[in-house]
Amino acid sequence: MHSYFLPEWNALIEMFVGRADNSMFTCLECGKMSTHKINIVSHVESHHVESPGFACDVCGNISKTRASLRMHRRRHKKMLSENR
Ligand SMILES: [Zn+2]
Ligand SMILES: [Zn+2]
Repeated sequence: MHSYFLPEWNALIEMFVGRADNSMFTCLECGKMSTHKINIVSHVESHHVESPGFACDVCGNISKTRASLRMHRRRHKKMLSENR
């Protein structure tokens, strides 16, 4: 099963993420700021880069961002526990 959590992909995202000051991260493309780096990372993934998608290792479904893959994966966990 192919997964897109590649070092190259992370390096590409990192090029868009800058520090505004000690506690703020900023998107270098549009200036969006957040105190949490993951917010900028997922913002860049959904707005500024053409993502090949993140493949779910359970069903192969492609999610556009890491955040939506995480949401999708949560559904599998729920289904598994409901089937028992
Ligand atoms: Zn941006
Ligand atoms: Zn899945």
